[in-house]
Amino acid sequence: MTEPTRFGSGWTSGVLSTLLGVIGLGAVLCFHFPDLLTMPELRGLYPVPYIRALLHLVLVGAFLLGVLSVVLRRSKRLGASGISLVLVAALLGGSRVPLDGELRDGPFLGLDWFLLNLIAYSAVFIPLERLFARLPDQPIFRRAWRTDLSYFFVSTLLVQVTTLLTLKPAMVFFSWASHPGVQAWVAAQPFVLQFAALLFVADLTQYWVHRAFHRVPWLWRFHRIHHSADAMDWLAGSRLHLVDVAVTRGLSYVPIYVLGFAEAPLFAYVAFVSIQATFIHANLRFEFTKLRGILATPQFHHWHHAADAEGVDVNFAVHLQLLDWLFGTFHLPKGRWPKAYGLASGERVPPGYLPQLVEPFRAVREARAAGEP
Ligand SMILES: [Zn+2]
Ligand SMILES: [Zn+2]
Repeated sequence: MTEPTRFGSGWTSGVLSTLLGVIGLGAVLCFHFPDLLTMPELRGLYPVPYIRALLHLVLVGAFLLGVLSVVLRRSKRLGASGISLVLVAALLGGSRVPLDGELRDGPFLGLDWFLLNLIAYSAVFIPLERLFARLPDQPIFRRAWRTDLSYFFVSTLLVQVTTLLTLKPAMVFFSWASHPGVQAWVAAQPFVLQFAALLFVADLTQYWVHRAFHRVPWLWRFHRIHHSADAMDWLAGSRLHLVDVAVTRGLSYVPIYVLGFAEAPLFAYVAFVSIQATFIHANLRFEFTKLRGILATPQFHHWHHAADAEGVDVNFAVHLQLLDWLFGTFHLPKGRWPKAYGLASGERVPPGYLPQLVEPFRAVREARAAGEP
């Protein structure tokens, strides 16, 4: 039997306790291994005394909420996991943990990047999705949330690797195509113009790469992992195979690299992309009719994920709806949303991060052996 999750059942306190416990323990680990677990770009920006004070509050809060959950709830799992995380964090030094390790530039995992993203996105999107849900009955911890959180965890932890995979191929293979005169002219344009141009050129490439991922059978075997999510929310968009991420981002970066945009609009673009990618998957009921034909919205991208026949191979753009309109793949019926999400026609992929990492390679090999494309 499943226990209730309503307010007063010890569920909210248990979830918050576990979430704060993960954040607290993660922060303590970042203090212990700053050179391995934090992003060099962010290290200089942290106000360490404030972070220690905040960490103290987080750990105390996680502990008290864990106790509350244990008292209120028959199943002690949530509360106990929150308390255990706090105890491990305390054993490792808690908020008084010394800042260890010499700081050097080298390979690192973005644990701090994961924590910052988790805090920011869950603080914004969980309340928004509770207040304005398109499917109000869909819980925060819906089916396969662990799988999608694993994707979120791995992709932020491997931020150094994915950044390298995005930037390097363009630099290695396309430096011949760039021209200093053109780059200087592009970088001299007004911020807003560069930002709009970035959205357009990146999404134009992304559109065709994305369409190829749907059309070419072996590419689809990698991209269908993204489409295997049968619930849409802010976390669902994280489900992307590493090959999909590397190819799509690597190719979309080529025109950006060749044209040589200035740093400020480029940073603004990168921030915008990650927020919009989360936003368009969110379980939000607004139709944003003012953005119709212009910017990608949840309803627009939800149709791309539809299991319904009318949602097959539509809405490939991730930034600009107008690209689909231009290339004849636009589908956004007013007032209607897909009936179901996920893979159509009985296609299935296994649950879990690691099985999904391996599955496309297996599927491609099997198709080859069977003489299929
Ligand atoms: Zn797709
Ligand atoms: Zn998507």
